Amino acid sequence: MNLHEFQAKEVFRKYGIPVSAGHVAETPDQAADAFAKLGGPVAVVKSQIHAGGRGKGTVYEKDLKTVRLQGGVKLVRSAAEAKEIASKILGYPLVTKQSGPHGRVVRRVYVEAGCEIDRELYLGAVLDRKIGKPVLMASTQGGMEVEEVAAKDPEAIVKEHWDVGLGLQGYQARRVAYALGLSGETFKQFFKMAMAVTRMFVEKDCTLLEINPLVVTKKGDVVALDGKMGIDDRAIELKKQAELEAMRDVSEEDPVEYEAASYGLNYVSMEGNIGCMVNGAGLAMSTMDIIKQAGGAPANFLDVGGGANKDQVKKAFKLLLANPEVKALFINIFGGILRCDVLAQGIVDAVKEVDVKIPIVVRLEGTNVEIGRQILKDSGLKITAAADMADGARKVIEAAGLKR
Ligand code: GDP
Ligand code: MN
Repeated sequence: MNLHEFQAKEVFRKYGIPVSAGHVAETPDQAADAFAKLGGPVAVVKSQIHAGGRGKGTVYEKDLKTVRLQGGVKLVRSAAEAKEIASKILGYPLVTKQSGPHGRVVRRVYVEAGCEIDRELYLGAVLDRKIGKPVLMASTQGGMEVEEVAAKDPEAIVKEHWDVGLGLQGYQARRVAYALGLSGETFKQFFKMAMAVTRMFVEKDCTLLEINPLVVTKKGDVVALDGKMGIDDRAIELKKQAELEAMRDVSEEDPVEYEAASYGLNYVSMEGNIGCMVNGAGLAMSTMDIIKQAGGAPANFLDVGGGANKDQVKKAFKLLLANPEVKALFINIFGGILRCDVLAQGIVDAVKEVDVKIPIVVRLEGTNVEIGRQILKDSGLKITAAADMADGARKVIEAAGLKR
């Protein structure tokens, strides 16, 4: 689960991580009010979407062709200007490097007091799965994507792994501060910030915590100018983070993924047009691979899970068919705990409720496979049987009319 910048900053405040004053606005008038409350002379109107690169992004008309505004983060010098910029942004899609080609419709802007930037730094924390510890990362190349810095100049990134139980040690925070070339009051403030960021990362079950840029102001103060926060979905599921869960913005999430999750299905949307229903994450991955290899493109990853019941299978089936991009379905099931007959009955039931207009290719194997095949056969549904995975992939691509 991800948070918006303004939400991450609310949490920052609780940890004593310095941020500028700001107000959320959902209408242009509210943006003007926000500017007035901040008192100027300069404020920044910042689009709130769950994607980075907003500063360099583009706000489009709803047709996604005509440009409304270059940049989703804008400096303004009056309440009138704040209102004008907000009216260009609110309700329109912002396309950034990370948003995908359709962008995200901006529902809120955050109007923040402007700050006089001397230097832009980078500070972030992620989980290093190889080492099994979180890692604090910092660089002097603030404002730039850290992936880009890592590719061009990996030496420029300072890293400190820390122990979750012990927390980041003082010498580690100091080492990072020295590496960034900080001194005096700025050094002390950064030290506190590094300690707070790493504590917050662990306490809030973060998978990502990024401050880019972290700025040093002309006065030498350290301020978190941006805030990106990703939270482990398991922590949300386990109700460990009620306060953060309350900040969840479902409108930023893929509606199908969200619905699937509420049925206990592991679903990820993709760009292709072959719907996949598979049990087991490994089989789902290899099904996607084999479709690709045969020249097609999967529309989704879907693991109905080992213990799926009839209702879940039915739900999964409906979710796949609801996607207008899907031109054919590939059902690839290795019946283990999920028995083939349960799956087959789920499909038959679902088809009775939904008007299926697209071809279906099924590969069934495993427990109760004969009964499953019989159920499908007796149903009178037009289903193409596949001998194995590769055969299924070929057949489904052919059925979708996507033959290379
Ligand atoms: P992102 O593009 O989604 O990462 O959004 P950011 O919050 O990082 O904003 C993009 C850029 O806008 C930053 O790198 C800053 O250079 C600039 N910016 C943001 N806030 C201020 C501010 O208060 N004053 C000034 N001068 N620039 C700002
Ligand atoms: Mn940023």
